[in-house]
Formats: sequence, structure tokens, C-alpha cells
Amino acid sequence: MDTRDFEQELRSIIGADRVLADEPLAAHTTFRIGGPAQWLVLPSSEDEVTAVVSACQEAAVPWRVLGLGSNVLAPDEGLAGVTVKLTENFSAVDVLPGGLVRAQAGATNAAVAEAAWTAGLAGYEFASGIPGTVGGAAIMNAGAYEGQFSDVAVSVRCLVPDGTHWRIMDVPAPEAAWGYRHSRMMEEGWVVLGATLQLRADDGAAIRERMDDLRERRESRQPLEMPSAGSTFKRPEGYFAGALIQEAGCQGLTVGGAQVSEKHAGFVVNTGNATAADVLALIAEVQRRVHDASGVQLEPEVRLWS
Ligand SMILES: Cc1cc2nc3c(=O)[nH]c(=O)nc-3n(C[C@H](O)[C@H](O)[C@H](O)COP(=O)(O)OP(=O)(O)OC[C@H]3O[C@@H](n4cnc5c(N)ncnc54)[C@H](O)[C@@H]3O)c2cc1C
Repeated sequence: MDTRDFEQELRSIIGADRVLADEPLAAHTTFRIGGPAQWLVLPSSEDEVTAVVSACQEAAVPWRVLGLGSNVLAPDEGLAGVTVKLTENFSAVDVLPGGLVRAQAGATNAAVAEAAWTAGLAGYEFASGIPGTVGGAAIMNAGAYEGQFSDVAVSVRCLVPDGTHWRIMDVPAPEAAWGYRHSRMMEEGWVVLGATLQLRADDGAAIRERMDDLRERRESRQPLEMPSAGSTFKRPEGYFAGALIQEAGCQGLTVGGAQVSEKHAGFVVNTGNATAADVLALIAEVQRRVHDASGVQLEPEVRLWS
């Protein structure tokens, strides 16, 4: 199938206005970095996601899923194929009886935390300031301040390959193989369509106080005023990446427009015109210096797309 026919097929599946051609990924990542996606598509139902992924597979067109792009470094040259963006177009949050909350993959963590607070449900405060989606949180097992996604998830709704087709499967939490910033869904390349969380009843004022406290802690310690993708590196066993980076003398280190944040050494920030090449070169230099200084090999937490 030629490119025009394939684009036409995408348009017929989800509507012309939700198929963006040559869309700059910099506009869809919190790093504000990334060249054009050949097609960025915005499906708004499970059927549409399934149909898009199936069409890609059938036409051998590469595809990937994007949430809010808060943990992604997209390449300067852009991406061939389809980037399936699951955000506000796919973001319902429902509070169910028994402290259960069901959210579509594109719901933001903040929206889920707000809905939980409104319903007097505690347990998702830890994620209220993680600037991604439920899909991204499930894939990454996002966590902060002693909490992580796997603590509250009951099941994850996934689109999984089944021979030449794709089918929807509710994966119970114990089968999600969550680890530190890791999941079975990531390993297998499944699409997360949503998740069901088990929260617990609590006093609304106490929930709000915890969310406010965590927000203040983030605002005072993290360079939220600059584009970044959060912690650049995973926390190495027994260490803190930020402390190792500081001790290796890397704080403020700059390559092009990418800089090790002066406020929090664990973050690489975009000072204005950083390219993905700048960030990659800076990551490599930090890894080299930290290894020389401490013997620890830092591993990127940010997903490096190519
Ligand atoms: C300022 C700042 C602070 C941060 N603080 C934290 C923190 O405290 N704790 C933490 O864990 N993270 C933190 N992060 C990183 C990031 O917010 C999390 O990893 C988040 O879970 C990513 O969600 P997302 O929707 O932005 O995913 P994206 O960045 O869009 O995607 C991340 C990965 O998940 C995949 N993906 C996304 N959605 C789906 C889906 N529906 N199905 C299949 N794959 C999918 C993508 O392909 C990609 O590989 C921070 C980032 C920033 C910018």
C-alpha cells in the first residue's frame, strides 16, 4: 500500500481531523524536543485504537504509543510511521463502588487524583504531580514519594497481539510483572487502554493536604520551570543518581542546549534550543564521568526513541 493510500485508511478509521501528518513531536513531549511524526493520530475509542494498530501491522508500518510525552526523548529526524497519542481524547475516569477507580489510558494522573479526592478516596496522591497519563504510569510503573502505580492497580486493560490480530485483555495486577520503572506491558509492547485502581476511603481534607504537600516538595526541588523529562536516570541500587552526578562534578554541565539542571542534578533540562543529539551526548558524558568517579553505571530512565 502506498503512503497516500495508508494515510487515507487512517483517516477513514478515525476521521481526517485526528490524523496529523508531519506533526512536530517537540509539541507533544515535555522536553520540547523531536522532529516530525509522519502521522500522529488521536483515536478516541478502543475500537479505533485496535483498528489503527491492526492497519499498521497489516501494512507493515511502524507504530508506537505516546502519552503526554513526559518520559520520552524523540529523535531530531522525527519518526516514520504512526505515533498513536492517547491523551485527552481517551481520558474518561469513573469512580465505581467499593473504592475502585477506572481510568482510560489517556487520563492524566492529576485528573485521576482529583477524581479520587472528590470521591473521598486516598492512595493516588503520590502520582498527582507525575505529569503523565495512566497509560504511561502503567507502562513505567511510575512512582514517587513512597508510592508506585503497582501499589494501587487491580488490573490493566491491554491490547495484545493474537496471531495476526489484536485482542483486548484485562491483565490482573499480579501478572503485570511490575518492577522499578518496568512492566510486562513495556516488555511485550502491549498497548495500555486503561486501568482499574483500588483506593481507600479517607477524609477529603487529609487527602488534599497530602497532595498539596507533595506538590510543594516537587516545586521546591525540581526544575519544573524548564522543559525536561523528569529524572534522566534510574536510581541505581544503593545510590541516588542526582548525588552521584553532583559528586562527579556534572551539575550545570552543558552540551548545546541540554544542561544538567542547576536545581536538581538528576534532571537534564532543555535550556531553549536543545536537540535530541545534545541530550544524548550529555547523557553519555554524565554516564562516563559518574562511572569514572564512582564505578556506577547510570542507566537512562527516559525512553530514548529512535
Ligand atoms: C517534571 C517531571 C517530573 C516527573 N516526575 C516523575 C516521578 O516523580 N515519578 C515517575 O515515575 N516519573 C516521573 N516523571 C516521568 C514521567 O512523567 C512518567 O514516566 C510518566 O509515567 C510517563 O507518562 P506519559 O503519559 O508522559 O508517557 P510517555 O512519556 O508519553 O511514554 C512513556 C513510555 O510509555 C509508553 N506509553 C505511554 N502510554 C502508553 C500506552 N497507553 N500504552 C503503551 N505504551 C504507552 C511510551 O511508548 C513510552 O515508551 C516526571 C517527568 C517530568 C517531566
